[in-house]
Amino acid sequence: MSKGSLDTFFSSLYKLLNFDVEYKLMVKKIAQETIKRLFDRVFVCRVCKHKIRADPAKVRAGKVKCRYCGSTALRPKKRPVV
Ligand SMILES: [Zn+2]
Repeated sequence: MSKGSLDTFFSSLYKLLNFDVEYKLMVKKIAQETIKRLFDRVFVCRVCKHKIRADPAKVRAGKVKCRYCGSTALRPKKRPVV
């Protein structure tokens, strides 16, 4: 293997690794956005298990009622660890 082809090999390997890093970052970003969309400010009614999106401060103050059963007993939706 000549020096030139070795350089090409390493530069393509570098590009490949770099792409891999970018790809992983992109996947991570998308996963985080999805988790945020699905779990951020989402609460679950303890009575009927319906999901409600609400402001955490309002939920703690008991101002948010379940729109299905009227209960104020809500818990935050568990989010998976990335
Ligand atoms: Zn409910």
